Amino acid sequence: QITLTDVSRAFGKIGVLHDINLDILDGELIVFVGPSGCGKSTLLRLIAGLDLPTGGAIAIDGKDVTTVPAADRGLAMVFQSYALYPHMSVRQNLAFGLENARMARAEIDARIAEAARMLEIAPYLDRRPGQLSGGQRQRVAIGRAIVRNPTAFLLDEPLSNLDAELRISTRAELAALHERLSATMVYVTHDQIEAMTLADRIVVLRAGRIEQIGTPLDLYNHPANLFVAGFIGAPR
Ligand code: ATP
Ligand code: MG
Repeated sequence: QITLTDVSRAFGKIGVLHDINLDILDGELIVFVGPSGCGKSTLLRLIAGLDLPTGGAIAIDGKDVTTVPAADRGLAMVFQSYALYPHMSVRQNLAFGLENARMARAEIDARIAEAARMLEIAPYLDRRPGQLSGGQRQRVAIGRAIVRNPTAFLLDEPLSNLDAELRISTRAELAALHERLSATMVYVTHDQIEAMTLADRIVVLRAGRIEQIGTPLDLYNHPANLFVAGFIGAPR
């Protein structure tokens, strides 16, 4: 369980996140949704430990994240930009983090084979990212998170670089993956439809504050205010 208590983040004098209170439950797929610039990526980076809050605290299973080394947090982040190493093969990209953690070769190979099978990227393992389509690259980026066997996935707009058709099929694959791995997923998007179809719970953000938290049906049927109603598109 990931617990955010009064979390804020300011850059200089400009507050970007204000008093965020949120419990992310084990195994849920929680979606952060909100307009561009509302602080979604900043919030995800704080949870990942890539950035520190200027106020409040974030705990994983009751332990303050700042006291847990990044490698021991059980989190894996998937970036919108893929962030693959262009000079390495797909296989090397998948192995890199595990080799750094000094995992045994046989275990590394087994995890890569399993992820490649799951994501249907086995035929491309010896190619470089530049020789793949956007959708294939995106699956490699997801694969790199899977091989780490994390307890939670943090996904920042993982489908935004895909065309409409691939978005829909990859979205379905992610939903299936969530079922299969029963891992926590924190999923950032500005796409309402993505949020409504994937989420166990949706967190609606606006200008660095939480407007409402609820299931897709809650938000649709009982939007807390006009902003949420407009965003989720319920009839008014
Ligand atoms: P998008 O949907 O466009 O990705 P977002 O909700 O992810 O938007 P963030 O990237 O979290 O938005 O940014 C929130 C606000 O914080 C923006 O106004 C942005 O300019 C500001 N911001 C983010 N990172 C920094 C930084 N390192 N220094 C200063 N301001 C920043
Ligand atoms: Mg963002």
